[in-house]
Amino acid sequence: MGTPRIYKTEAIVLRQRKMGEADRVLTLHTLTHGKLDAKAKGVRKTTSRMSGHLQPLNRCMVQLVQGRTMEIIAGCETLESFQPLREDLDRLSRALYAAELADRFLAERVEAVATYRLLQETLRHLQGDADVDLVLRRYEMKLLEHAGFRPELDRCLGCEVPMGPQRNFFSPMAGGTLCPSCGAGTAGSRMLSADGLKVLRLLQRASYKEIERLNIPPALAQEVERHQRSYIACVLERDVNAAAFVERLRREQQRLEI
Ligand SMILES: [Zn+2]
Repeated sequence: MGTPRIYKTEAIVLRQRKMGEADRVLTLHTLTHGKLDAKAKGVRKTTSRMSGHLQPLNRCMVQLVQGRTMEIIAGCETLESFQPLREDLDRLSRALYAAELADRFLAERVEAVATYRLLQETLRHLQGDADVDLVLRRYEMKLLEHAGFRPELDRCLGCEVPMGPQRNFFSPMAGGTLCPSCGAGTAGSRMLSADGLKVLRLLQRASYKEIERLNIPPALAQEVERHQRSYIACVLERDVNAAAFVERLRREQQRLEI
């Protein structure tokens, strides 16, 4: 059965762009139909009643009508506005990064309920008392897993031996860990400390509740961020539409290496 001409679904607004004089095109992560673009007519006019409901990051109930090239938003009602994120620039930039990352990893019109729930949960935790960077790291790890890019962290991708509690290597190109002897000669692999490996594994397995109790030193947090970002950049590099985003990740990575 195809999608009906008019349907209602819950959605998180990932981003928006202007179109023509008064319209916007919104990229929505819908609960029932995955990621899709939808046109909001006249929302840039001051009289628009919909515009407030369609801010990026808003979770809302939308009524969509199938158009010739894309869906048209016929109605919209906010379910959750994540207001605390909008009042704090640090939190807001992290939340927008989370939305952009979801946009990069989601395929068009492929239902992704688990990713939807993950993003919703992440936005909620970014509002709370937890270390917002660790919240993002866990989000990245889960998102990679949902997209089919779960990094290997238990065995060496070269010789299959289980990873020991020593200095190992992480290879974005190989997709995970390498033991000291395999990693030393592999181009692009970087040193991974024993604690770094522990944190990466924890991020893969722990819930947000467990992450909230974690307190890790800045140097270790940076090491983990560096490995994850280089892996994400490597995964997304094959996607031509993500070029500018990958460039930004690479710049961030350089900042972490200084
Ligand atoms: Zn090995």
